[in-house]
Amino acid sequence: MTATGESWGRYPRARQQIVPLHWRDADLPPSATSVLAYGNGRSYGDVCLNDGGTLLHTRGLDRFIAFDPQSGVLRCEAGVLFSQILAFAVPRGWFLPVTPGTQYITVGGAIANDVHGKNHHRSGTFGEHLRGFELLRSDGTRLHCSRDENADLFAATVGGLGLTGLIAWAEFTLKPIAGPWMACETLEFHGLREFFDLSAQSEAAHEYTVAWIDCAGSGATFGRGLFMRANHSTETRTLPRSRQLSVPLTPPLSLINRATLHAFNALYFRSTRRGPATVPYRPYFYPLDGVADLNRIYGPRGFLQYQCVVPPAGAEAALAELLRTIAASGSGSVLSVLKVFTDRPAAGILSFPRAGTTLALDFPNSGATTFELLERLDDIVVAAGGAVYPAKDARMRGDRFRRYFPRWEEMLAYVDPRFSSGFWRRVTQGS
Ligand SMILES: Cc1cc2nc3c(=O)[nH]c(=O)nc-3n(C[C@H](O)[C@H](O)[C@H](O)COP(=O)(O)OP(=O)(O)OC[C@H]3O[C@@H](n4cnc5c(N)ncnc54)[C@H](O)[C@@H]3O)c2cc1C
Repeated sequence: MTATGESWGRYPRARQQIVPLHWRDADLPPSATSVLAYGNGRSYGDVCLNDGGTLLHTRGLDRFIAFDPQSGVLRCEAGVLFSQILAFAVPRGWFLPVTPGTQYITVGGAIANDVHGKNHHRSGTFGEHLRGFELLRSDGTRLHCSRDENADLFAATVGGLGLTGLIAWAEFTLKPIAGPWMACETLEFHGLREFFDLSAQSEAAHEYTVAWIDCAGSGATFGRGLFMRANHSTETRTLPRSRQLSVPLTPPLSLINRATLHAFNALYFRSTRRGPATVPYRPYFYPLDGVADLNRIYGPRGFLQYQCVVPPAGAEAALAELLRTIAASGSGSVLSVLKVFTDRPAAGILSFPRAGTTLALDFPNSGATTFELLERLDDIVVAAGGAVYPAKDARMRGDRFRRYFPRWEEMLAYVDPRFSSGFWRRVTQGS
């Protein structure tokens, strides 16, 4: 079946042949075009799209294979969602070692983007907790990859953007927790210096740290935000039933625009409760999952997320310049996030996290003005020696990618000749 597909940002759209997979031991389907695995499409741009090619939909690979309740080692097929793992693991006293801001991603997608979460300073990326996986290559070989076996292919596949073959199943270690609640604390800050101070003070005693920043702030409100730090709570009460809201249809225009941006950010800053609170793990880790189809609010043209990291030396100046450029543009979102990454060896050749501070925010797609703004942000990130996250990208230029990921040529030896993506063609073949 040929269909038009999109990822979470709803930009770009791609025409591709869709082939659903159901069995982890089946061969790759014959195809005259290039192929790419597709998890749950929670990447924002074209890293999971293959315009003119074939997409292997992996959600049918959804079986748990083995779980050791002594060690927390779980083996499952690559199409299992994090939400399914949590539904199984949390009542048994286990949790994901690392989780991004949505639970609706697959294990294969978590590996291919080597995802990070609010505990990067403690636990690094998902790839660090991976014991091994089976990789199906287009020549029909099935390779068990771990740090001891096919170690080079292991490092190329972790963060390898789906280009080394199809991950059929994976094995990783969960971590023990006392219960499903989080002990959180929210503190306000005024300016980037206060953000860095809070981050440094909080890391030793808090497993999770992240901040929301008002990207529309200027003058007295420039750099204001809310710092959230948390640990798993010892509270064991059963969770209350949760309700999910939804965006029932796509509005004709983005609801986030120059007129609403200031008001939404000011409202969020004013209305968020400060101080300590004990909350269920889902709203803590996955606030955006609380509203189904939230990506519709940006209207039919979709949106672009921009996530960059800038190194520690000069981070404050680079972030200030990024924020001033964004505020002056009148564009941006209510969902702007800051987090300090610590210096850990990367799990994969193309893993994105590295020492520095990461800033992530959404921009409604307003055509050329949005693309020009993102180019200007790239200029700042390049000058600071930082990088932009491929999982969130739909437009970075090839020359930028090659600077952000100086080891990219090492990848070429491991890319499966039949695998490709819109992202990969753009950044390796484009200027
Ligand atoms: C609301 C929201 C919050 C997010 N927060 C974060 C965050 O905090 N941190 C973070 O790191 N990311 C975050 N993300 C991004 C998301 O975690 C990643 O893009 C993730 O990779 C999506 O997984 P997926 O299963 O949807 O994969 P897809 O988006 O479908 O695919 C992602 C990549 O994985 C490859 N792939 C998928 N399955 C396989 C397989 N079986 N074998 C080989 N390759 C495969 C694809 O080819 C593609 O290159 C967020 C996304 C959303 C929507």
